[in-house]
Amino acid sequence: KLHNTVMELKGNIRVFCRVRPVQNEEGMAMIAFPGKESREIVLSQSSETATGGSREAVMPFSFDRVFQPQATQSEVFEEISQLAQSCTDGYNVCIFGYGQTSSGKTYTMEGGASDDAAGMIPRAVRQIFEVTQELKGRGWTYRMEGQFLEIYNETINDLLGTGEIDKKKHEIKHEKNGRTTVTDVVILPLESPSQVRNLLMRAQSRRTVHATLMNERSSRSHSVFTLRVSGNNPLTGESCDGCLNLVDLAGSERLATSGAANDKERLKETQAINKSLSALGDVIAALGEKSAADKGHVPYRNSKLTYLLQNSLSGNSKTLMVLNLSPLAAHLNESLCSLRFATKVV
Ligand code: ADP
Ligand code: MG
Repeated sequence: KLHNTVMELKGNIRVFCRVRPVQNEEGMAMIAFPGKESREIVLSQSSETATGGSREAVMPFSFDRVFQPQATQSEVFEEISQLAQSCTDGYNVCIFGYGQTSSGKTYTMEGGASDDAAGMIPRAVRQIFEVTQELKGRGWTYRMEGQFLEIYNETINDLLGTGEIDKKKHEIKHEKNGRTTVTDVVILPLESPSQVRNLLMRAQSRRTVHATLMNERSSRSHSVFTLRVSGNNPLTGESCDGCLNLVDLAGSERLATSGAANDKERLKETQAINKSLSALGDVIAALGEKSAADKGHVPYRNSKLTYLLQNSLSGNSKTLMVLNLSPLAAHLNESLCSLRFATKVV
């Protein structure tokens, strides 16, 4: 029950857990089950004992919220919508999808083609449009812009850009006004929620065209969708500037770092991923510290990802980590690693 106490201390950091369903071809290999309450997940593992009997090892973990395999995209979004829409009040929000490859991160963030399967990015954009529409009646006008970046081997690429994906050099700039800009990237004004579909498709086709092993690469890189929302109210003289970052993290699976010599590229990728995921864990853990002194040492500069998101992981910010888990017995060890990562950061 450690989480329940920790939660209260860390108002701005939340951790959810989502277990994806077993796919048809995977058979019945479930190892993750609901716990006693909606905040608990239980992993179970049967193991053969020396005498031929079988023994169940059961490991419970608790979160701010747990989504079972049957949970729909709309149920998940319901739990994050408040947080997402707080960017219209000037907050900077980060939502991370963490987990091994095939655990459901991209499904959660981007989702499938049907309306029911739409993920958190299109849902959040739609919701924020609706909120700003309502506020119009009270004199507010809003501007929304979308940006979609990839961080691969500690290098930023523009998923909305043109030309060869790895060619342009992009630099992170933290402006005095608290904004973060990345040089030479495409920023699309969003004037209707339907445009976000095109934006996701544009990024998708860019990944497909420019990487022969598309799936491979997208699971070895982080993708960061940023929606910037700026509003002002000439009637009251108020203004606000917030952003929502939805981050599909690189697969957290541990790869054997020893291997054939032609796996140099793989080794480099693995090191970059390890570095950035542990940097992210360190930053979130530091943000959770109660004392300002500890917070003063938040190690943002240890990776491109944390440096890019620095302004969204400090001050006026809210953070949610969605831990995605595979339900398969074969993935038990990776699931345990993910769960341990989450318990370590909060
Ligand atoms: P990741 O991005 O973590 O590698 P994916 O999102 O690609 O994983 O998910 C792996 C597979 O499982 C995909 O075919 C995806 O459509 C499917 N999937 C994941 N989560 C769900 C879910 N909640 N409901 C239905 N299918 C899912
Ligand atoms: Mg993915």
